[in-house]
Amino acid sequence: MRYEVIVIGAGMVGTSIAWHLQKHNSQVLLLDRKSPGSETSYGNAGLIQREAIHVHPFPRHFTELVRVLPNQNTDIRYRWPAVLRHHRALLQYWQFSAPSSVQKIEEEWETLIEHCTSEHQEMITAAGAENLIRRVGWIEMHRTEDKFKVAIAAAINMREQGIEHKVLSIDELKVLEPNGNFDGFIGAIHWSNSWQVSNPGALVKAYAKSFQEMQGSIAECNVKQILPDGDGWQVITDDATFYSDHLVVAAGPWSNQLIKPLGYDLPLFPMRGYHQHFDITPQNTINHSLVDMDKGFVMGPMQQGIRITTGAEMTLMNAAKDFGQLNAVLHFAKTILPLNNKVESEAWCGSRPCMPDMKPVIGAANKHDNLWFAFGHGHQGFTLGPITGRIVEELIHNKPLTVNVDPFNAQRFLIA
Ligand SMILES: Cc1cc2nc3c(=O)[nH]c(=O)nc-3n(C[C@H](O)[C@H](O)[C@H](O)COP(=O)(O)OP(=O)(O)OC[C@H]3O[C@@H](n4cnc5c(N)ncnc54)[C@H](O)[C@@H]3O)c2cc1C
Repeated sequence: MRYEVIVIGAGMVGTSIAWHLQKHNSQVLLLDRKSPGSETSYGNAGLIQREAIHVHPFPRHFTELVRVLPNQNTDIRYRWPAVLRHHRALLQYWQFSAPSSVQKIEEEWETLIEHCTSEHQEMITAAGAENLIRRVGWIEMHRTEDKFKVAIAAAINMREQGIEHKVLSIDELKVLEPNGNFDGFIGAIHWSNSWQVSNPGALVKAYAKSFQEMQGSIAECNVKQILPDGDGWQVITDDATFYSDHLVVAAGPWSNQLIKPLGYDLPLFPMRGYHQHFDITPQNTINHSLVDMDKGFVMGPMQQGIRITTGAEMTLMNAAKDFGQLNAVLHFAKTILPLNNKVESEAWCGSRPCMPDMKPVIGAANKHDNLWFAFGHGHQGFTLGPITGRIVEELIHNKPLTVNVDPFNAQRFLIA
């Protein structure tokens, strides 16, 4: 069967692309080996982060490097096989993390972030998914005076960009979260115009259902190969071959596997995170996602339970789970809230698709016509799926662009 567009990957990014294209009259097939929103877009912390105008640079300061190197921190850990495999990408990551580069990157990054809540809203309304959204912001909690002062100064500067916050004393935090024990913390910042999603996977599924209601097609199958086919594309899966005029690769951290055989070798690397749910009880109910900035983890109220999500582990995609970082985090989480009964016997893990310059790849492939890339959204792909969907629709339909996509093109990495 021939479609106008095939999108590979039904995470937040691919589903949003398929939705926008179908809404604007393309016949779209969305392909994934699992049901929509079952991988990284399922297990994240569920924050739609209007405040996320700062990227996550590689530690460059000597004291920060000394802190990270022993590999015992709760916020970031690394495994040597992944460091060796991705050493070139890491070197680029280090280079792009120079303060002068970061400033330019953040200016470009912000052109995406500024659309995040309005773009989600359009899809939330169409999908009837209001029940999953809580517009209560999230709370950044601090343990150290120096970092707290820096964070407050940065927050004040962010007001100009329309990002709202309130600095909270521990007493004020306790009013918002009466169940929390905040011994060891000195204060917090409440980011009030970011949103919290109570089941990230369910939001992707709601968007996918809305796509189907517009006559979009979904097929659950593993894509083995993509091949040019005249002016269009052939997508070979385990059981069938599909044809399309345009092909969009939005397969998150797996995207390179699909495009490498066509001669594209982008420095995409995974940053793993874990989560574990705990039963919600009257004693541990929380009203906001709480982020421990010094220990690097999130406690979020989800439909499944209180979800504890970890920071970053640089490890290979297929490496066995290593629960060291999660266990270290749980030690601190349990001092804040009583977390007694685990919901699932084994913690979830998934990988953020990261690029060395901390920006996603969005745009045309440079060696083939009608091939489009949309991956590498790193720590904020759940936030940025809908604006990415809009941009890819505008590109394919040759419309004026809401966002200048030049900073996000694939060519910036001198494809081999
Ligand atoms: C612990 C953690 C917390 C996070 N918290 C947040 C947060 O609060 N806010 C935020 O904005 N972001 C957050 N992120 C990042 C965010 O989750 C990701 O950036 C985002 O989910 C990436 O979406 P995606 O659609 O690109 O990838 P995915 O959701 O991984 O989707 C890719 C899809 O491609 C499919 N696929 C791959 N290869 C094939 C193939 N060969 N055939 C068929 N299908 C294929 C996969 O099955 C998958 O469904 C977090 C990430 C982690 C790990």
